[in-house]
Amino acid sequence: MADYKLFINGEFVAAADGKEFETIDPSTGEPFATVAQANKADVDKAVAAARAAFDDGRWSGLRPEKRAAALNALAGLLKEHAAEFAELESRDSGGTIRKTKGDVGGATFTFRTLADMAVKVPTEQVMERTVMPGPSLNYVKREPLGVCGGIIPWNFPLLMAAWKLAPALAAGNTAVLKPSEITPLTALKLGELVKEAGIPDGVVNVVPGLGPSAGEALVTSNDVDKIAFTGSTAVGRRILQLASGNIKKVTLELGGKSASIILDDADLSLAIDGALYGIFYNSGQVCNAGSRLLVHRSLHDDVVDRLVSRAEKITIGPPLDKNTEMGPIVSKTQLGTVERYVKIGQEEGAKLVTGGERAQVAGHEGGYFFQPTIFTGVESTMRIAQEEIFGPVLVVIPFDDDDDAVRIANDSVYGLAGGVWSGDPARAMAVADRMRTGTVWINDYHLISNKYPFGGYKQSGLGREHGMQGYLEYFETKHVHVDLSRDRAKHRWFDVVVPPLEK
Ligand code: NAP
Ligand code: MG
Repeated sequence: MADYKLFINGEFVAAADGKEFETIDPSTGEPFATVAQANKADVDKAVAAARAAFDDGRWSGLRPEKRAAALNALAGLLKEHAAEFAELESRDSGGTIRKTKGDVGGATFTFRTLADMAVKVPTEQVMERTVMPGPSLNYVKREPLGVCGGIIPWNFPLLMAAWKLAPALAAGNTAVLKPSEITPLTALKLGELVKEAGIPDGVVNVVPGLGPSAGEALVTSNDVDKIAFTGSTAVGRRILQLASGNIKKVTLELGGKSASIILDDADLSLAIDGALYGIFYNSGQVCNAGSRLLVHRSLHDDVVDRLVSRAEKITIGPPLDKNTEMGPIVSKTQLGTVERYVKIGQEEGAKLVTGGERAQVAGHEGGYFFQPTIFTGVESTMRIAQEEIFGPVLVVIPFDDDDDAVRIANDSVYGLAGGVWSGDPARAMAVADRMRTGTVWINDYHLISNKYPFGGYKQSGLGREHGMQGYLEYFETKHVHVDLSRDRAKHRWFDVVVPPLEK
């Protein structure tokens, strides 16, 4: 079995206490690699390395062009090793090879985009000159925050690593990344490329370990200036509390229960497949999955029939087979969660119209496969319509008009994303305007770009990733005021406390 170590200060090292854990291939249920398990001592070591690397300016002190060159070199290496990364990601996470190839491309593009921003986004702005009562020069600077901690989930491990590392590094910060214990391998492998790309030792550190130990050590460290987290709302809430010790900056990308809305003028050839893509992509294990499908009542029965017949044709199989359209659930625990919710839906009185059971894949009997599952007869108040299942389970809810659709869509503690399917862009945009979510796709789904902000309203998050707003989350802002008069008589406000100088 392959053996992976922690990446700290430019070296691959064992955990201080020698602990290791196994990572499982979810398509077989068998372990296939051992990984060093970081504990508090290892996280502290990684944070100390990142702190030293930040404080001595070996990265933040470089000209932006130099940092951009290193990030572009990293992107180039990732592209060179794309096939290897995609395969490793598929084995570790169960994501289909079709999807993980896209993820490696997405990660590469993220590093390139942020390299570009490092050069193009100004870090200093000279403000309007003040002349009253004395002349002064004012400018506003953007400075890196310091050490940025990234904590990432198991559904898009490499892409999430890139989303956390690229903006942090472009802005001049150093980083400590804690991947999910379920899928640690590609983030560790990225460490090899970080070194090869010439990014100085200590600037990037990767410490897989358990959330409550390694994760909390990172969140509570006073030497960490920011935490960027993607994962569940429950853990996000805990992180927000734990980060208060040294008033860390915190950005959170959390759960969702996003509504995909089919209006009565939608082109169903687009909307049906779009809705299926919205929920069954990565077996439903996507924070912005369109897990609630709201359908105009006049189309409901026709849409459901077509959804069911299309869903039953989806090819479930091993992730590395290029014909596979849906791979396994990431872990036995997550599979159990999905099964539990199917049972809850039935007990609540919803009607299971397809799926609802584990799928059998020949030669992969121990794998965590689950059928594409659809419920109808769902009320918005039901748990299966309110709680994030994070699996291939779609609930279909009918609505009467656009007002009703908006009301149901917004009936959620979450507000991450949503979709509108309509033949009338103006009407769809009017619906989008009223949805309380961070992203709305009209006649498409899942398109997240490095160029546009992504994040959640309500309990789906705090702050944004991507776009200018996402990049600026990695900076402090400093205003510098330079008095140009150097004349005591012009500083009349001093007189509030001390009498004017005697002439
Ligand atoms: P999670 O528990 O929120 O874990 C996400 C990350 O946080 C992992 O790296 C995890 O570490 C870490 N973590 C867990 N407890 C922590 C703590 N107390 N302090 C600091 N870090 C901690 O999510 P999950 O277990 O992977 O999945 C559970 C649910 O989260 C899913 O059912 C879904 O609802 C949601 N989820 C959302 C997203 C998203 O993209 N928004 C992605 C994945 C999951 P370990 O895993 O190593 O323990
Ligand atoms: Mg795994």
